[in-house]
Amino acid sequence: MQENNKDILLEVKDLKKYFPLKSRLFFNNKSYVKSVDGVSFKIHKTKIMGLVGESGCGKSTVAKTILNLIEPTGGSVKFNDKTIFNVEKNSYIPNKRMNEIRKDMQLIFQDPYSSLNPRKTIEAIVSEGMVKYKMGSKAEIKGRCEMLLNLCGMDKTCLNRYPHEFSGGQRQRIGIARAISLSPQFIVCDEPTAALDVSIQSQILNLMLDLKEDLSLTYLFISHNLSVVRYFCDEICVMYLGVIVEKGPSAEIYDHPLHPYTKALISSMPISHPLQENKRILLTGSIPSAGKIPSGCKFNTRCKYATDRCREEIPELIEVSTNHLVACHNYNSI
Ligand code: SF4
Repeated sequence: MQENNKDILLEVKDLKKYFPLKSRLFFNNKSYVKSVDGVSFKIHKTKIMGLVGESGCGKSTVAKTILNLIEPTGGSVKFNDKTIFNVEKNSYIPNKRMNEIRKDMQLIFQDPYSSLNPRKTIEAIVSEGMVKYKMGSKAEIKGRCEMLLNLCGMDKTCLNRYPHEFSGGQRQRIGIARAISLSPQFIVCDEPTAALDVSIQSQILNLMLDLKEDLSLTYLFISHNLSVVRYFCDEICVMYLGVIVEKGPSAEIYDHPLHPYTKALISSMPISHPLQENKRILLTGSIPSAGKIPSGCKFNTRCKYATDRCREEIPELIEVSTNHLVACHNYNSI
């Protein structure tokens, strides 16, 4: 079926971000930590894409690079069919144009405790972007702050109070009100519930789903928790050491995982039924140091199915059924 470009909000192609390691004295051979090493995906308008993986796999670096907060090493990002950057073509969006586009691309942070300035009132925090972009008179902006807080389950009495007066869940609601203050189309949610109590997590996720419906938002949802991602996201990309190892619709990935790493992640999810058996797959070995990535498949040092081919040849991400892609030489025999 022909894909309609107008439906695609974000297109990431072969994104790379390498961080140089300090070169040793008298040695000129520069080495790099390949934090993101050739990541590609598309997010359709009003959909939620989940990016899952262990800490340090590069998911937050993907988000920061997409948002143009850190300089890319390679690849391209298009937003609304406009090129943000294309490193190979040496094409970068001018700062002035990027400032305009930033209104449409916002971020919800992981830690609601450190992401709000403790010296500012809630009104100053939520209105900051609207003041910067001159979105109305003082009274209009204050009225919009009240409306946004209301939308996020807070009332206007909190406008003159400070972040330390609120709980983690309430602070995250304030952070969300700030993220939607400029009427964005796209929001990167960087583990927005990871620092919250379990009882509060579902409230925040439900709020985000309601806002997505009401405001036609599109999310990139970053998480290490596959059970959250399963119910929240339309599609999932599973990342390991800077690359996507499996990608597809959420239900398909959850019901028919093909990559050994995805299978291990899914097996570690808590089971809700007491009679259901939990066949947990324990990964052996530790994550290789980012500066010493193994040759061939990056997962080969922890994979019990690894063969000589796995240690020599990098598996490509190939489509094995409609929209379900996997990067494993042996996916059909394990
Ligand atoms: Fe394991 Fe080989 Fe597949 Fe990598 S390519 S996940 S090492 S079986």
